[in-house]
Amino acid sequence: MAENKDILIIGGGPVGLSCAYYLLKSGRKVTIVDSNEIGKGSGSGNAGHIVPSHIIPLAAPGVVTSALKWMLDPAHSPFGMKVSLDPTYLSWLWQFASACSQGNVSRSVQPLKELGQLSAENFARIIAGEKIACHYQTRGFLNLYKNQQAFDAGRHESEFMQEHGIPVRVYGKSEIHDAEPAAREDVIGGIHFTGDAHLHPALFLKALGERVRAMGAEVYENASVTGFASAEGKVRAVRTRAGEFEAEQVILAAGAWTPIVARSLNLKIPIQPARGYSLTAAAIPNMPRQALILGDRRVAVSPLGDLIRVTGRLEVGNYSTEPNPRWIARLENFAREYLRLDEKLNVKETWAGLRPVTPDGVPIIGFSPKHKNLILATGHAMLGLSLGPGTGQVVADLANGKTPPLDLHAMSADFAARRA
Ligand SMILES: Cc1cc2nc3c(=O)[nH]c(=O)nc-3n(C[C@H](O)[C@H](O)[C@H](O)COP(=O)(O)OP(=O)(O)OC[C@H]3O[C@@H](n4cnc5c(N)ncnc54)[C@H](O)[C@@H]3O)c2cc1C
Repeated sequence: MAENKDILIIGGGPVGLSCAYYLLKSGRKVTIVDSNEIGKGSGSGNAGHIVPSHIIPLAAPGVVTSALKWMLDPAHSPFGMKVSLDPTYLSWLWQFASACSQGNVSRSVQPLKELGQLSAENFARIIAGEKIACHYQTRGFLNLYKNQQAFDAGRHESEFMQEHGIPVRVYGKSEIHDAEPAAREDVIGGIHFTGDAHLHPALFLKALGERVRAMGAEVYENASVTGFASAEGKVRAVRTRAGEFEAEQVILAAGAWTPIVARSLNLKIPIQPARGYSLTAAAIPNMPRQALILGDRRVAVSPLGDLIRVTGRLEVGNYSTEPNPRWIARLENFAREYLRLDEKLNVKETWAGLRPVTPDGVPIIGFSPKHKNLILATGHAMLGLSLGPGTGQVVADLANGKTPPLDLHAMSADFAARRA
């Protein structure tokens, strides 16, 4: 016998938990099912950057050329991809390459900016309101450069962001070492996105998970969704390892696994996993003041209280979540290239996670084109933590029949409609 539920959320990552939080606040009854433990998916070991400055989607002009160039130097490339003739994968790659256009950037900037700002404000409210201790710091996010060409390209990009209202400070050689004393002497400049923030993602997600349970959410862990029953344009039942559920509304927030979960709904969701790695070590004597990105290496560094986390690499098409020891060692070396770091890191944890990437680099937030009681909230790529609380508020509005505070056209699950 199926159990009746009001809202059933599939996936308890940053997106699913944020949806749960805002739905509970709006008075709905929430059940979460996750194949694992909530808060332990691809969000916990990430860099923890909250970046409303990231208004340019992953699919942008020049990305394919850069990716091809990087692949000539595989030991240092921030990017990698699976080699496969799988038609779904090849079609995704083709769609991604086609989306790397100015048109895609123009369509996406405003919605990404609005969602990013809503989310950043919601982080501040949740953390203060729920008294969450998670090393939340609002010191911005600083890109460091050692190479003049990369610095010039970064400056050019930051001018575009400034034109769209993103606060930016540029530091030359004479200022960067005051702004970030942990930077090595040969760092020549930096670009500081002063409106950004960072936190310890596992602590935030653990606290958010506890909060939604305290607000009344029923949580089923180790309860993989295995299939659905649907009829007359509605999801009638969700089958899980913990039993079968019927729900007024279903929210699908299974991150990189969304296309697999959605298969038995006859929904084709164009998402590929993009694996990345992190290492978390004991604090170093010269801790960075703020969250960093290390120029050409595209490696993120996050000071997390008495820990430091180094994060990087984007490998498209691979579902394994095994940390690759070779890349973990490289991350440490890359950190050493930019930071005053003479000693070996005392590594406490290594991790791999999957970014859910759509072909145009923009999330999917909206009703399923085929089911009137199914909302999709997925495809946030490198921004699933950052955009989580904004997505949660928007999804709660959609589920409650309210107009969300931003135009979701560019995030439609119908990809042809996005471009119309
Ligand atoms: C190295 C790295 C660094 C990153 N750094 C940042 C950062 O600094 N800032 C940022 O904003 N983002 C960052 N990201 C991206 C971010 O982690 C993801 O975008 C985010 O985790 C996606 O959130 P989600 O809730 O959609 O999916 P997930 O976090 O993957 O959660 C999905 C959940 O669905 C569950 N699930 C899967 N299949 C099923 C099933 N069949 N049934 C039930 N449940 C299921 C999973 O167990 C999981 O708990 C980073 C990612 C990586 C890999």
